[in-house]
Amino acid sequence: AKNSGKGCYVFWQREFLKGSTPERVQLESELREAIVNDELVLHFQPKVEAQSGKVYGLEALVRWNHPRLGLVYPDRFITIAEESNLIIELDRWVLNAVAIQMSHWRNLGLPLLEVSVNVSAAHVTRLGLVDLFRSLLDQYPYLAHCLEIELTETAIMADPDQATVVLNTLRSWGIKASVDDFGSGYTSLGYLKKLNANTLKIDRSFIDGITYDHSDRDVAKAIIALASSMSMDVVAEGVETQDQWEMLQSFGCKYLQGYFFSRPHCAQDIESYYLWPLQGQA
Ligand code: C2E
Ligand code: MG
Ligand code: MG
Ligand code: MG
Repeated sequence: AKNSGKGCYVFWQREFLKGSTPERVQLESELREAIVNDELVLHFQPKVEAQSGKVYGLEALVRWNHPRLGLVYPDRFITIAEESNLIIELDRWVLNAVAIQMSHWRNLGLPLLEVSVNVSAAHVTRLGLVDLFRSLLDQYPYLAHCLEIELTETAIMADPDQATVVLNTLRSWGIKASVDDFGSGYTSLGYLKKLNANTLKIDRSFIDGITYDHSDRDVAKAIIALASSMSMDVVAEGVETQDQWEMLQSFGCKYLQGYFFSRPHCAQDIESYYLWPLQGQA
């Protein structure tokens, strides 16, 4: 009782300082229901090989199909979930939904592309994350080698030692790891090396200006060189034009993602636009 009292105090104080709005409080309680009632829905955005433009993987992105507000995007509710314990339930829902979707595709005989899943900062520092993946792999062992976890640079740096332990464990089971939004935070290069992630994702903010802003271009080049020196792959996020594609390719960036290639789509559209055609080629 003592603990929960203290927790409540901290919670209310924080809400007070942030200027808690009724809308926000309402969204939080609605989100709690939404997770239980399966109002969340996954969309998937293709990742392509720079050289060929071929799809090699997908990123799962959650949306909330809100009864009143329509389709709500994660920027509007992930922070709310992170500030309460709801993020644990949300990440669990997403992982399960990804596994169910991938199993469905597998049952249809479609190629199992690598799927990456965003996991919140709040989750990394809790051991529950490892247990969550363990029970998922116990249930779906064939997913081990086609799952990737995306953690933002900021999430990793919040507790780099813990992130390293978590990623090492997941990697020992075959799960890959990406550092998301790279370049937007403050990574210690020593930690980055120890972290031993498979991939760096160049933050979209640098890709925007790559064709006209020298400093954005230099940062993108530096990240590509850094990844290569640490034997990591690089994905550029937010590629919206052919010029950006060509420039990134000339810099040696092997993988790309962005509206130029495809927006995120619901599972059914991904299936018919990308997976069935791929199967035809096999
Ligand atoms: P992120 O992981 O960096 O995902 C990329 C975001 O950029 C996605 O927004 C995607 O739709 C958008 N995007 C992709 N290509 C382009 C482009 O060419 N131009 C522009 N302007 N945007 C592009 P989305 O889906 O709204 O997600 C926003 C963020 O919310 C994600 O950033 C991620 O941090 C978080 N998120 C999304 N799904 C989940 C989830 O299932 N769990 C958790 N914990 N976080 C999630
Ligand atoms: Mg991501
Ligand atoms: Mg990102
Ligand atoms: Mg982001």
